[in-house]
Amino acid sequence: IRWYPGHMSKALEQISELVRKIDLIIEVLDARLPYSSSNHLLEQVRRNKPCIKVLNKNDIADPAATRAWVQHFQKNSGVRALPLVAKNIPEVKSLVKLCKQLVPHRGNPGYPIRTMVVGIPNVGKSTLINTLAGKSIAKVGDRPAVTMRPQQIPLNNGILIFDTPGLLWPAMDDQGGAYRLAASGAIGANALDYTNVGVFAAAYMMRRYPELLKERYKLAELPETPYEVVEAVGRCLGCIMSGGVVDVHRAAETFLRELRAGKAGRISFEEPGTPEDVEAELLRFA
Ligand code: GDP
Repeated sequence: IRWYPGHMSKALEQISELVRKIDLIIEVLDARLPYSSSNHLLEQVRRNKPCIKVLNKNDIADPAATRAWVQHFQKNSGVRALPLVAKNIPEVKSLVKLCKQLVPHRGNPGYPIRTMVVGIPNVGKSTLINTLAGKSIAKVGDRPAVTMRPQQIPLNNGILIFDTPGLLWPAMDDQGGAYRLAASGAIGANALDYTNVGVFAAAYMMRRYPELLKERYKLAELPETPYEVVEAVGRCLGCIMSGGVVDVHRAAETFLRELRAGKAGRISFEEPGTPEDVEAELLRFA
């Protein structure tokens, strides 16, 4: 997707229009980066409707960071945050239960809770809708909300859902956010240099998960700089060019692929309230 100002305002307008007709918003965020995978403009069109922030992909997020985010959201805005894995049926059932708690006057087949699932591309909206429905109804794939013809699907659990997710664009208001989105795989890295994103991720891992780095890439000691970490990862994974030199670009790419798949362990890219000086320090390396 390429978001243009026209697309953005259309998408927001459409969501704003749909919000009128519903009882509850399900906002899907990536548990690994709840801040940058959100779009604060949603708040402007929410019309005070109850909102559940689903922290999806919790299977690959750092459990401690996720716990901190749940507390953060509870404390700050009174909205409910629920970590889950979109394909996990029992966990999605607990989401249905929470919907019923928040909209107690509705929630049976004759009088269902009308809801819509919103979020940026790739956070797992379609997967969640399909699990909620118990079958494949949401079209997987990234399409701006501009092109959608919303259709309401009654589920047999007292929920009525729009079958096409409301697509938002990510909060890329700072360079760190853009790097974190790229590192997590939420946005393609063609807009940004892959090597820089890899080095940024290495800097973050050195600070936050040094033990995971050492273990996965068999490092007795951590190198001094994030760039050297990427080189060390490249050596460990065999990203070597002729002459025995590490192919840093390929190393960075492989490193990011590993992180996104949870190969180095469960990691999150954001914690609530990361101080600005830490942010600046991480960016210095990229
Ligand atoms: P959408 O663009 O928001 O509709 O996202 P999709 O539902 O198409 O999912 C995007 C990608 O994330 C797909 O490859 C899914 O398999 C993957 N995904 C969705 N939910 C989860 C989850 O809970 N955990 C993990 N690890 N991957 C997920």
